[in-house]
Amino acid sequence: YQAIRQFLEHRDPQRIIDALKAGDLRGMGGAGVPAHQKWTDVWQAKGSEKYIVCNADESEPATFKDRELLLRTPYLVLEGVILAGLITGATRGYIYVRHEYQEQIAAMKQAIATAEQRECCGKNILGSGRDFLVEVFTSPGGYVCGEQSALVEVMEDRRAQPRNKPPELQTNGLYDKPTLVSNVETFAWAPAIAVRGGEWYANQGVPDCKGLRFFSLCGDVARPGVYEVPSGITLGELIEKHAGGVSGTLKAFAPSGPSAGFLPAQIPVEQLPRGWQQRKELAALAAKVQQDGGKHLSVLDLPLDLQRFRDLGLMLGAGMTVYNDSHDMAEAALNCVEFFRNESCGKCVPCRIGSEKVVQIAESLLARKLDAPQLALQKLLIKELARTMETTSICGLGTVAAKPLQTALDHFSEDAHRHLR
Ligand code: SF4
Repeated sequence: YQAIRQFLEHRDPQRIIDALKAGDLRGMGGAGVPAHQKWTDVWQAKGSEKYIVCNADESEPATFKDRELLLRTPYLVLEGVILAGLITGATRGYIYVRHEYQEQIAAMKQAIATAEQRECCGKNILGSGRDFLVEVFTSPGGYVCGEQSALVEVMEDRRAQPRNKPPELQTNGLYDKPTLVSNVETFAWAPAIAVRGGEWYANQGVPDCKGLRFFSLCGDVARPGVYEVPSGITLGELIEKHAGGVSGTLKAFAPSGPSAGFLPAQIPVEQLPRGWQQRKELAALAAKVQQDGGKHLSVLDLPLDLQRFRDLGLMLGAGMTVYNDSHDMAEAALNCVEFFRNESCGKCVPCRIGSEKVVQIAESLLARKLDAPQLALQKLLIKELARTMETTSICGLGTVAAKPLQTALDHFSEDAHRHLR
């Protein structure tokens, strides 16, 4: 609890927020919002009642890094939550954990009890006169329960449905009070950054990338698991150095659970955003592509860094899946779009109707009901449907629900054609 002790000595929120900024600590749940921005928003929000919520409702398929952090370092997650509470002026914190994580719930409860015994949590923390109570809230379960505004709805005893925004949670969150909702890993990094400084954290990345982060990697690799790596390490390094290599021949890669769909082992350069080679952050990658013939970018060369993925028009999550050539990507796509259809909360029409329509198209393909011209027509329809869902859905589920099928048809047409009537 060194970070808490130090903070209470200086009582200077700005110093910690500056450290988070210098370290470029981001939300590790997927969106990558800078932590210093959220912490500042809640700190500066008006009102004496504020809340901190640690989002441990890890529900994205292939994503299980928070499961390990909660189990192995619950005291660190808790310290980050308490630190956020002291800095922002909140009086109560919640660890919102999915109900399937029973061991993690027990570990967090134990960590809270220990912190209370040591007077680092609860009433009058370390004799400072500051109170900050923390408790575990068990999430009822469901993909959408992890969406941060749906999470707040659940905590207020309503159905798990995302809210329309604005207002943002930082001003109108739990019980309409300023609320900081952040991911487990983000809280777990905060104490070390507060104690050692932002530069220390920033310098852990590969050159030009900042920080360390955790990824869960599963699928066809020798050692699936959770790995702590420098930001910007390439996918190839992660797989070879840490996960023991691909089992079989690499066919596809899902960089964000199923939410970003599937990438082929070799991405055609013409499918990348125009002018990407001119970006100085991607200069090394552009040179590598040029050296390899200039037509394709190997997924193994992708630097695992949020901004670099965005510059390439791609999405990077915290959980990744590797597929070898024994997989049929049309079948994998059906599995993923069924998941999104089943998890849609039904609040908005584009997602409720669209996610079902996407499943129907995938099912008709796999049931050999389509011939080649019909498949071509369905591809156009999916593209239009995906664009509509992306621009009109309330939350992230609807914006990505068509991606697995869309990318499977774009990149793995031989698998789709195998199912034609
Ligand atoms: Fe619910 Fe889907 Fe709309 Fe999100 S996009 S609010 S999951 S119906």
